[in-house]
Amino acid sequence: MHPLPCTLTKTDFYMITTAFSSLPLTPELLANIASLNYLKMTPIQAQSLPPIIKGEDLLAQAKTGSGKTAAFAIGLLHKLKVETCLTQALVLCPTRELADQVSKEIRRLARVIPNTKILTLCGGKPIVPQRASLEHSPDIVVGTPGRILKHLEKGSLKLGGLNMLVLDEADRMLDMGFHDDIMRIINFIPAQRQTLLFSATYPEKIKEISDTIQKNPVDIRVETSHDNKQIKQIFYEIQKGERTKTVINLLQHYRPESSVVFCNRKYQCKELAEALWQQGFHALALHGDLEQKDRDQVLVQFSNKSSSVLIATDVAARGLDIKDLQAVINFELAHDPEIHIHRIGRTGRAGNDGLALSLFMPSEASRVNAIEEYQNSPVRIDKTSTLKPRENFRLSPPMVTLCIHGGRKNKVRAGDILGALTANPVISGKQIGKIDIFDNLAFVAVERPIAKQALKILSEDKIKARKFRVRKLR
Ligand code: AMP
Repeated sequence: MHPLPCTLTKTDFYMITTAFSSLPLTPELLANIASLNYLKMTPIQAQSLPPIIKGEDLLAQAKTGSGKTAAFAIGLLHKLKVETCLTQALVLCPTRELADQVSKEIRRLARVIPNTKILTLCGGKPIVPQRASLEHSPDIVVGTPGRILKHLEKGSLKLGGLNMLVLDEADRMLDMGFHDDIMRIINFIPAQRQTLLFSATYPEKIKEISDTIQKNPVDIRVETSHDNKQIKQIFYEIQKGERTKTVINLLQHYRPESSVVFCNRKYQCKELAEALWQQGFHALALHGDLEQKDRDQVLVQFSNKSSSVLIATDVAARGLDIKDLQAVINFELAHDPEIHIHRIGRTGRAGNDGLALSLFMPSEASRVNAIEEYQNSPVRIDKTSTLKPRENFRLSPPMVTLCIHGGRKNKVRAGDILGALTANPVISGKQIGKIDIFDNLAFVAVERPIAKQALKILSEDKIKARKFRVRKLR
């Protein structure tokens, strides 16, 4: 290896080796990566992109938040030949939320490659429109195994030209019973292909499936234990009947702008959301009883900062990718320490400090011990009397969501909404937050002080020369 030039510091050297420009990508793709503010590769990207680009199979241990999606997205876009009009890449995901997030990330990265067609195919959605979209031969398909298999068996999806298969969150897919569906999908795919397998954990069944479907994969394991220094973890011992009151006190004491409260049961989510509303918090519950459209709405409101507290069960929170989560609160401890670590890993991401607050009753002390054993360090236990809740404190989210009754099917695009709002001189682009477009609905987050004005503009003026019903979500 060449010695470092003397003007280069160690940090410079690190920056160079993790620079996206060290990869043989097109200038357009590199410029787009830079425009997304991805300044350097995350550890999983730095380790996996070189072998992915070389065309090797990959078995990678990576969690949500590690940048794994961009790792395989960049790899598959590098390989893509849009002019072939064949489906060249398939990404299998355990849940619809994850599939939607993956599609979004691929779309953002692909925006510099003209005519790239990316299609999401998930269960719980009508199959006929999916069939119609498949007639336009998508370049990349992202979806859940059950629905993908259905399309393959009906002949609506053809994967004869596939050259890259990605299994994302493979451990979760196996946990959810998708093993057989995945193996049947493999029968429809050419044997000559590149297979990337991403999994947060490495149980024996991951090794087995890798042995069956991969060829000499490069094995990458990036350190995944969460850096304790970035997550301040405090436990509070409570007595029976004190959970809800203590969560309110924690929110009034720490005042996190956005937090997720984990409950073990659906009814706890519902009851806690009610109690927090009554205290003036904008809190939404996410649990298995919600219809898909309500679930989408909850996720939109929370991720665009128009709700402050998301109350979720572990199953409902799967695949959730939310940035800037200041706190995770455990209303009740998880039964398994691994789930606890997974829960608290959602705060303190991307270099931001996180706060993990957990409630336990004396009868649940064994779960605290299991966590100590699992993380190999004692936990800090504080008394609830140390909390100084500010009475009548109202946590008001910075944004408000406006719901437009027109979506992808009405050809409404984010740019149309942004254009309609900023055409009015009283509103500037930076007062507008996230825009989410669904088939028949679109959601736009606007800063709270301009919400009334924005609602008036969108209701009275036209979007794409059409009038749509618009309402403010509570
Ligand atoms: P993932 O692990 O794929 O869920 O990604 C976590 C988040 O990190 C996503 O919101 C990405 O947009 C973001 N991200 C991915 N790669 C980078 C990077 N190199 N630099 C900064 N952010 C990134």
